[in-house]
Amino acid sequence: MDNAFLKRLREWFKKNAAELPWRLADLDAPRDAYAVWISETMLQQTQVSTVRDYFVRWMKRFPDIQILAEASEEEVFKYWQGLGYYSRARNILKTAKIVAESKELPRTRKELETLPGIGAYTAGAILSLAYHQREAILDGNLVRIFSRLYALDFLPTDSKEALKTYWDYAREIADSPKAYVHNEALMELGRTVCKIKNPDCENCPFQGACKACAENRTAEFPPSKKHIQKDWHGTVLVIESADHKILAVHGGQKFFKNQFTLPHFELPRNATAGLPAPAEAYIDADQVIGVQSIGSFRHNITIHKIECDVLHIQLSKKAPANKASEIQWVKRNLAQEFFANSFCLKALALLKA
Ligand code: SF4
Repeated sequence: MDNAFLKRLREWFKKNAAELPWRLADLDAPRDAYAVWISETMLQQTQVSTVRDYFVRWMKRFPDIQILAEASEEEVFKYWQGLGYYSRARNILKTAKIVAESKELPRTRKELETLPGIGAYTAGAILSLAYHQREAILDGNLVRIFSRLYALDFLPTDSKEALKTYWDYAREIADSPKAYVHNEALMELGRTVCKIKNPDCENCPFQGACKACAENRTAEFPPSKKHIQKDWHGTVLVIESADHKILAVHGGQKFFKNQFTLPHFELPRNATAGLPAPAEAYIDADQVIGVQSIGSFRHNITIHKIECDVLHIQLSKKAPANKASEIQWVKRNLAQEFFANSFCLKALALLKA
């Protein structure tokens, strides 16, 4: 990349950088590594406009790694609720516990990438934005820009060589004392100018260097990949004891394998009415005094496009005292607080008052 275009990129960024809660007013000042880590992890698969409030709330409650490391997984999930991809929150907590003693995140890519949830992109962001090292990043925004700049008709996921080609372009741009600006400017450029649809080439600092733009072929890059999405139709059970407690299970479920959730299983649409057989894994059919379909909801988890029916099952007996960690009975009026994922909250919202 010609230095003149990198200079234009920096100037463009100085003029156009949006005010964001994780960004300092002085764009040349090194940022707090913890804040970079949290914001960049939140921003994976999530829009900037959504992340803003989540980030502010998070930093108020968990202002540094030590405080975060002492939090429970349930509480961390609550502050993550709505951002989806809960494994990100779980990994953040795991990493906080690992690095809490040293009080800061490591300063090498090798060490960072051994930590749960920190991949090549996040490591590059922490090292460049916080520690001002000449380290590259590569995310969807940069892939789109490079694909158009150099008319690359392949994706980094196509092969090892393809991935290397994209990283080589990213490293070339980061090989500068200003890597922190170049990286952040490219992310911003991808988000606001070199957008997926209708890139604003007129206002792009790379106009004149960009092959796709010069050939009027921006819509062809990056090439599209087949979208793999899986439909999943299931049933969620809201099992309520005579003393108004709801059954929560940990493990053995299709989704949310590492947190308490409502029991759920795959069941085709229009399955026979009554108590579905999988429910008997949790309750004795003799205790059932009512099975009522209370509605359905839609939800997306990773590649799964979910549609779930919700069954409210009422029992004649009181809930036993909570013992085993895999099964808990939660007071109905505290259930909204207890379940830390929107999937369960959507099911519970269908319960009549
Ligand atoms: S000139 Fe257009 S297509 Fe090329 S990088 Fe800029 S916005 Fe993207």
